[in-house]
Amino acid sequence: MSEVILEGRGLTRRYTTDRGQTLTACREVDICLQYGRTLGIVGESGCGKSTLLRMMTQLEPPNEGRLIFRGQDITALKGEALRKNRCHIQMVFQDPTSAFFGRMKAGEAITEPLGNFQKLSAKQIREKQAELLRLVRLPEDFAHRYPHSMSGGQRQRLGIARALAVDPAVLVCDEATSALDVSVQEKIITLLVEIQRQRQLSMIFVCHDLALVQSLSHQVMVMYLGGAVESLPGNEVWDKASHPYSKALLSSIFAIDMDFDKPLPTLKGEVPSPVNLPQGCAFHTRCPQCRERCRNERPAMREIGPNHRVACHLFGQ
Ligand code: SF4
Repeated sequence: MSEVILEGRGLTRRYTTDRGQTLTACREVDICLQYGRTLGIVGESGCGKSTLLRMMTQLEPPNEGRLIFRGQDITALKGEALRKNRCHIQMVFQDPTSAFFGRMKAGEAITEPLGNFQKLSAKQIREKQAELLRLVRLPEDFAHRYPHSMSGGQRQRLGIARALAVDPAVLVCDEATSALDVSVQEKIITLLVEIQRQRQLSMIFVCHDLALVQSLSHQVMVMYLGGAVESLPGNEVWDKASHPYSKALLSSIFAIDMDFDKPLPTLKGEVPSPVNLPQGCAFHTRCPQCRERCRNERPAMREIGPNHRVACHLFGQ
């Protein structure tokens, strides 16, 4: 097994709503990213994926839990130490334009983060712009164009170039391909995988599409209502996913050879509110295999195979 580069232990994040209620966006999540590997995180909107990423990238601190980077506890870093550490873990957003100022040309936009960490001459900045554009397979003269004049795929390449400008060890992609056409999505994924191999990058790839996530991830973690419910190797997702929620996600994927006369299996009921989490298993209000114990006792994550853990009372007794 390869070495761990970034690890979260028991990460929990709560917010107070306007009405003074407590909203639990993430609950006791353990997460482990290995050197040079991709960890995929999947789940419906509101399952806590983005909150988890914000904690992993130190954009906000956990209320409970610890964050370990290269063996060091970085949970409580503040001020200059926090700022310096940020260059190691960079993020690619769903909408890269939100990171660009409208009047900034592409070259300036992708090298802007460098100014936070090092002083470079104008010549060095131009060289860095050209290097980054080549890295993401864009023509070097794109440095002089405005991001808003480019296609969605080209802008996402700029988003990746910007995240790589400070040479991070970990790249965190938050729904980075979700807004793109399928053909463009594939090119961006191919590019990310190529860059990962070249640079030995470790990557967290968050998406609501389980089929896409498992295709590029060494390990996949499934989240539901703020908690991790299953974690298993990406190449075992189709055959070995065991949690009833993971299975429901898999059965809702369209396949070319599926029987279109049969109704598509769907989960019944609504996702409960994170302001009012159900007792016991968070999934029990929608689980077709729910039993009495599930309503009262929250299942812990248990090992059920090599690199395969699941939080469900049906397993690991
Ligand atoms: S613990 Fe019970 S309710 Fe929860 S997923 Fe397993 S069987 Fe379903």
